Amino acid sequence: MAADRLPVVTPDCSYEEPGLSLDAFERLILVRAWKPYQQKKDRKEFSVHRGLLSHHSVVFRETLQRTPRKNILELPGEDPDIVGSVVYWMYTGKLSQAALDAQGKIPLTLEQLCQVFSFGEKNGIPELRNIAITIFFQKSVQDSISPDTLMRWIYANTLPGSALRRYLVDYMVERCNFLNVENVWQGIAPAAFLLDILARLRMLQKPPSAQPPTRDEWLADKKRVFCERYHDHTPVALPPNEGPVIVDLMDAGLSDDEE
Ligand SMILES: [Zn+2]
Repeated sequence: MAADRLPVVTPDCSYEEPGLSLDAFERLILVRAWKPYQQKKDRKEFSVHRGLLSHHSVVFRETLQRTPRKNILELPGEDPDIVGSVVYWMYTGKLSQAALDAQGKIPLTLEQLCQVFSFGEKNGIPELRNIAITIFFQKSVQDSISPDTLMRWIYANTLPGSALRRYLVDYMVERCNFLNVENVWQGIAPAAFLLDILARLRMLQKPPSAQPPTRDEWLADKKRVFCERYHDHTPVALPPNEGPVIVDLMDAGLSDDEE
């Protein structure tokens, strides 16, 4: 299939992550994660350097600073596979062992990338959100999958105005001719998604039936504007406590209990 051989498009982004502090690898923290509806005894555990957790996540940093003597960080309701990917990224800067598998495909699913993005949002890890949305774009382009297949998940698990919501809305506004959406989206499109599309069309002063650009034109434009529009390179700040997040991270604190 021609779609299998499409090259991966890398958006222009000249930012580099700031360096780690020299004492980042002095102490280990046990990170425990278990899925929603899973029992704590079925958790998976990861040993992660304290300085690395603090370096990447403003939420982990605050939590670890509040309880400096404790050495366990619990993440109830988090998929251990996703936490494993995040830990792998913290040490290697990559979300998977190889950027492409033996077939030349990105070895992550759009669902996994959405989950990684959401994890980065809940835990104040902008660099993780940046890499997740970049690969989400690359994957959806490579596999020719319209991101509206994920609209319900994205609107249930990300904050209003998130880069993932904006990418999804932009994609629809820029690439979709809106023929037949009343049937395809009937009963499944979140109201907030439809309102975001309306707002974006109005901002661009564009009618929904406008002729979409060719795929190559669209890709060239996306590659150019991607960093500015979807990456977050500002210094980290605490995320708001409200919003449609699955787990309240303030509850996902530290604990010393060993049952
Ligand atoms: Zn960037």
